[in-house]
Amino acid sequence: MAEEVDLFVIGAGSGGVRAARISSGYGARVMIAEEYRVGGTCVIRGCVPKKLLVYASRFAEDFEDAAGFGWTVPEPKFDWATLIANKDREIARLEAAYKANLERAKVQIVKSRAVIVDPHTVKLTATGETVRARNILIATGGWPSLGKDIEGHEHVISSNEAFDLKELPKRILIQGGGYIAVEFAGVFNGLGSEVTLVYRGENILRGFDDDVRNHLRAEMEKRGIRILTKKIVEGIEKVNGGLCVELSDHEDIMVDKVMFATGRRPNVKGLGLEAAGVKLGETGAIAVNEYSQTNVPHIYAVGDVTDRVALTPVAIREGHAFADTVFGKKPTPVDHTNVPTAVFSEPECGVIGLTEAQACDRLAKVDIYKTTFRPMKATLSGRDTRTFMKLVVDGMTDRVVGAHLVGPDAGEMIQLIGIAVKMKATKADFDATMAVHPTASEELVTMREKSATHIRQAAE
Ligand SMILES: Cc1cc2nc3c(=O)[nH]c(=O)nc-3n(C[C@H](O)[C@H](O)[C@H](O)COP(=O)(O)OP(=O)(O)OC[C@H]3O[C@@H](n4cnc5c(N)ncnc54)[C@H](O)[C@@H]3O)c2cc1C
Repeated sequence: MAEEVDLFVIGAGSGGVRAARISSGYGARVMIAEEYRVGGTCVIRGCVPKKLLVYASRFAEDFEDAAGFGWTVPEPKFDWATLIANKDREIARLEAAYKANLERAKVQIVKSRAVIVDPHTVKLTATGETVRARNILIATGGWPSLGKDIEGHEHVISSNEAFDLKELPKRILIQGGGYIAVEFAGVFNGLGSEVTLVYRGENILRGFDDDVRNHLRAEMEKRGIRILTKKIVEGIEKVNGGLCVELSDHEDIMVDKVMFATGRRPNVKGLGLEAAGVKLGETGAIAVNEYSQTNVPHIYAVGDVTDRVALTPVAIREGHAFADTVFGKKPTPVDHTNVPTAVFSEPECGVIGLTEAQACDRLAKVDIYKTTFRPMKATLSGRDTRTFMKLVVDGMTDRVVGAHLVGPDAGEMIQLIGIAVKMKATKADFDATMAVHPTASEELVTMREKSATHIRQAAE
């Protein structure tokens, strides 16, 4: 007879691991299946290795900047193989820690792909065994989408492969304008590659505040990244000495690697959703309610596979809320508003809440406070760089409804601004907060002059 569990979790990534541990803590008998490596995208080939590469890439500027502070630095040399080996060691350590945490929580881990064969049965493809489950949680994440097949598509890598390249490419072309594209552009640029970013839209970071998009683009260009917008890659040909990339305007670019960061799709293929009767939404993601419940009452889905906000902390929160709801008898919806987020580009971006354009669409009166300034460190280093900060304020209530930063440590700053925004802080609350001097973030509490006020016609 097939084994029986209270909860079968498909996918041991950010959302699945949290849901499994907390559910088990509530006394549920839990099994979790992982087809690749425990930890999922974030730990194995996402946030964590990405941030390690970002750290590595930033030393290039640090060595240069040191001269202005009196240091003589011998010509620095970089070794890609050392970085990747060290990164792999850290990822293996984290994977082991994730497994140990699951085992300590008495969750049974199975190393296999799992597919749903009927609404209460999951099959482990590694052994052919089936497991009966009272509840099923789908936490299979997302997968890079490389768009339509073009000539030479077999030469294209995604972020998955970028983490394990045998050597650092001398020249790389990255197609895409989202956060993964701009982050990798910064990484390869910092490590010494010649980087071309190609994006079909008007500007990078679609969906972000326009000032952030323009400011980051200018900063990336100052660092030598070539950004080509309103163009796409039409074809790739392997030629002696590299890859020849043909763009839609017929320009040919010679590079050593081509990476596409053209979005991620919910990982639902071959999962057996039809067998279970689970419905997808319009975007191809699993449709769920605010409790992450699908149209089949005992089947739930969390994380990127539901395409709500595709970020690790959100997947974790959804996984935890699922466990509280189903096994903790505490129905817990997840609030997806005002999620602070960072882009680990060079320089970094930190954003929360409404962009200026969104605020103008939704609010009767919008006040904008913004500033750009030279970071203090750049005064002695001589680096040509500027920090940008903007607060978007509801002109009727004085509430800060958006904050948008580009500059060093913007990711760290936005985490804390996030608390204030979530607490519905007003601009007056920001102003009443004493500055910390000398910092960049003191600008956030000392912006006195409005840069603009927008009043919606109908509201006048
Ligand atoms: C390059 C990159 C950088 C990122 N950087 C950040 C960042 O800085 N900050 C941030 O918050 N987010 C970042 N993200 C996003 C973040 O990684 C995801 O939002 C997060 O991992 C989603 O968690 P999840 O649980 O939904 O899925 P995942 O973590 O993707 O886990 C899904 C797991 O399910 C497994 N699986 C899939 N199908 C099956 C099956 N049928 N059977 C068994 N196992 C299966 C997969 O192997 C995978 O391990 C990044 C993503 C990428 C790709």
